[in-house]
Amino acid sequence: MRSPHIQRSICPEPGDFHSDVSLAPSWISTAMLENMRFPYELPALPYALDELSPFISENTLRFHHGRHHQAYIDALNQAIDDTEFEAMPLRALIRATAAKTGHAAVFNNAAQAWNHAFYWDSLRPPGGGEPPPVLRQMIEASFGSVAACKEALTDAAVTQFGTGWAWLVLEDGRIRVMKTGEADNPLTRAAIPLLAIDVWEHAYYLDYQNRRKDHVAGVVDHLLNWDFAASHLA
Ligand code: MN
Repeated sequence: MRSPHIQRSICPEPGDFHSDVSLAPSWISTAMLENMRFPYELPALPYALDELSPFISENTLRFHHGRHHQAYIDALNQAIDDTEFEAMPLRALIRATAAKTGHAAVFNNAAQAWNHAFYWDSLRPPGGGEPPPVLRQMIEASFGSVAACKEALTDAAVTQFGTGWAWLVLEDGRIRVMKTGEADNPLTRAAIPLLAIDVWEHAYYLDYQNRRKDHVAGVVDHLLNWDFAASHLA
């Protein structure tokens, strides 16, 4: 993936430096997935399987990425094969099928395929710590403090009833916390997703059994990728 960049820097063509709109590294899962079209493939994790341990074990990550995420990708391909959705970019596909009768299988698997790529990018080893200055100022304007924001995000993740997701989003110029059920996500609303936390049981049951709160605490304090969150503000 690197050779085109090296080549360009040696022998730049006019306009080359403005042609790469996305500055995201090629290993970012969300960018990988969004650059694909049918048939989709499982995007790579942005870290090794053992790097989120002990907060998320290698075993959990292997099943979550290799089995669960893969299953959503496979089911998405099956659901859109030979349909109008094959050529559609993934975000557009999710928005087009949200809450549409008859398209539940496409929406659920497309959203879960995207949610998981976004979730992998929302984590990093070592994560947690403080958000970069621009995001931090926006968080302080919206929540009063980073600690209050973390508390609201934790509360959303812990209190989401049943399966679903907790999100940090930008909506109406403010940073907000949102929770969604099952496959639903902020793309179906007028909100820009910044971070995702998966609270389906498969995200933590092997490591924490029913103790979702302990899992979420580990994620929020030690794994959140604030740089990824800030990257969506530009
Ligand atoms: Mn999951």
